[in-house]
Amino acid sequence: MTTIERVYIGMGSNLADPAEQLREALKALAQLPHTSLSGASCFYVSDSLLAGQPRYTNAVAALDTTLEPLELLDALQAIENDQGRKRLERWGPRTLDLDILLFGDRVIDLPRLKVPHYHMQARAFVLYPLAELAPGITLADGRKLDELLAACPFEGLERI
Ligand code: ATP
Ligand code: MG
Ligand code: MG
Repeated sequence: MTTIERVYIGMGSNLADPAEQLREALKALAQLPHTSLSGASCFYVSDSLLAGQPRYTNAVAALDTTLEPLELLDALQAIENDQGRKRLERWGPRTLDLDILLFGDRVIDLPRLKVPHYHMQARAFVLYPLAELAPGITLADGRKLDELLAACPFEGLERI
């Protein structure tokens, strides 16, 4: 039997009308094969963590999928590319970033894919939208979202 997994995707953009980029990405996620788009958070705006970049708009989407994790990663990277993502420098400005935050109860440690996403605990723009969709969740590695939120102030995030 194929298992349907609940997956949370962190979405971000700071180029070429970021909110529109996220809306386009949500449409693309809704059209992925073997996948349904089950929810989306509000959009949040915050300053870039790196100086000199435009402000970011971020959100989290919930998917239910029977794709395998690397199949989903390939599909997300194709959507990023379709929306003009260029990888010129690490953490450079981007039209679209789609990161797999959580994949069911799985802990994944592959060269191309680490889940839970390795930096989510430090990122308010990931934790607060995730909490809209999955309040009180415990991550596959045992950490509780409420504890991560308590250690990561909302400060600097603007809900739009
Ligand atoms: P960050 O990972 O700090 O959010 P980024 O999202 O800008 O940075 P990308 O350039 O989008 O980084 O991705 C770099 C590589 O990260 C990808 O090619 C992918 O193989 C790898 N990767 C590892 N874990 C994940 C994950 N959970 N979701 C998406 N990509 C991941
Ligand atoms: Mg990212
Ligand atoms: Mg990424």
